Amino acid sequence: MIIYDPNRGHEYLSRMFFDQLHAYANRYDKPFSTSIDGVKNDTVLINADLLTPEMIDRLKNGGNKIVGFSITDSSYISQVCRSGKQMEKVDMFFAVTGIQTTNHGQEIVFNKETNGITTEDRRFLPDEDWAVFDKMRATGRLHSLPYISWDRPPDVSPRPYNQRSQKALVRGGHHMRRFILCLFLHKAGKLDINSGFHTAPYFGPTMNPQFKYCEKCCNSFEWHHGQAVVREPVSECTFKDASYEDLGAWNNKCPAMFYRMAQTLGFDPYGIQYLLNARWISDHEYRDMLARISYTTDLKWLFSIYAAQRFWDAASAGCVNVLPSRTMDQEYFPILNCEEHYAFYRESSIISEDLSRDFELSDYWHNSISRNAREQYDEWIRPGEFATNTNLLRHIIDTIRKVT
Ligand SMILES: [Zn+2]
Repeated sequence: MIIYDPNRGHEYLSRMFFDQLHAYANRYDKPFSTSIDGVKNDTVLINADLLTPEMIDRLKNGGNKIVGFSITDSSYISQVCRSGKQMEKVDMFFAVTGIQTTNHGQEIVFNKETNGITTEDRRFLPDEDWAVFDKMRATGRLHSLPYISWDRPPDVSPRPYNQRSQKALVRGGHHMRRFILCLFLHKAGKLDINSGFHTAPYFGPTMNPQFKYCEKCCNSFEWHHGQAVVREPVSECTFKDASYEDLGAWNNKCPAMFYRMAQTLGFDPYGIQYLLNARWISDHEYRDMLARISYTTDLKWLFSIYAAQRFWDAASAGCVNVLPSRTMDQEYFPILNCEEHYAFYRESSIISEDLSRDFELSDYWHNSISRNAREQYDEWIRPGEFATNTNLLRHIIDTIRKVT
C-alpha cells in the first residue's frame, strides 16, 4: 500500500492520519511506500483534494485501488471529486465528518416577515450525485472518521451528575446560529455562566487585518477598557450590509451586528453583553469545566461537522452533548446514536418553551449517555502509543483491506 501525500496538502490530514498510519504500519504492519511513480495493481491512500479526473485515470489505468481521504470542514466530499461521476471511480472514501444518510436537512433561517427564527428544508446534493454518494455509503465504500484533537488532552476527573452545574456550556467562535442558540438558552435559564465568545483578539493589533473589526468598534473597545459594549452598527462595520437571509455571513463579524440581532429577536442587548465578552480559557480549564457542567451544546450551519473535536472534549469529561436533531441524519465512526451517546433538541424548538426540557435529563439518563460516550472516547479517540488512537488506525487499515 502507498500513502501519496506530496507537499502535505492538508496539515491536519497529514499529521493526524497519514503520519500516524505510517507510524502504526512501521510498528505493526507492512510499511507504506510514498511514491506513485510507475505504481501498478496496488492500493493508493491519497488526499481527496488530489483526486482530479486526470489523477483518478492515471491510477486506475495502472490497475490500482484508490482510497481517498476527504476533509473539507463540512459534510461534503472534496470539491474535485464530489460529482457522482468522479466519486464512483474511487474505490473507497474516508471522510472526516459524519456521513449523510438523507439528502435533506433543516436549516435555521431568519424570517424577515415575522422577525423570528424558523427552519427551512435544504437539499444536500443534486439527485444524481446523491444516488452515488448514498450507494457508496450503503455498500461500505464511504466511511466516517472522527474529528480528533490535535493535542494530547489533559486528563480531568468527571464529577457525578449531582455535583455538576445543571446547565449547558457553549463556547467557540461567535457564529450567528450559535449566538442565537445562546440567546434562547439564556432565556430558558439553561446557559452556563462560563458560556460565550472570546471576541477580544478581533479588536487587537495582532489580529490579521482581514478579520479585524472596524476601526470605530476597535476604538469603542479601547474606550470601554476592553469591553465589547452594546453599540449601533456603523457603516464601517465588518459586513456592514449584514443580510438576515444569510446568517452564516455574520460569523466573526463586529459584535455590533450581534447586538442588533439580539434586539431584533426581542432580547435586551445589555442583558446578554456578557456573551460577547467571555474571557479566554486554557484547554485545561475548558476541560475542567466540562467535568463539572452537565451539558454542552452547539448549533452550526447545515451539513457542517456535527460531532467535531468539541464533541469528544465533552465526552472525555463525562459532559453530555445535546445536539440539534439533524445530527441523527448522519452516521458516524465510532458509532454515535442519539439518546445513547448524545441527547438532542429540535431545531424548530430553539425558540419554544420545549428547549429547556431538552436540557433536563434524569440522573439515570445523564449517567447512561455520559458513560456510553466516554466508552467510545476511550476505545477509539483517546491517544495512546500514537497521537491518533491505535484502535482507530487499525480500523482504517482493516477497512481498506476488506475491499483491496
Ligand atoms: Zn464595527
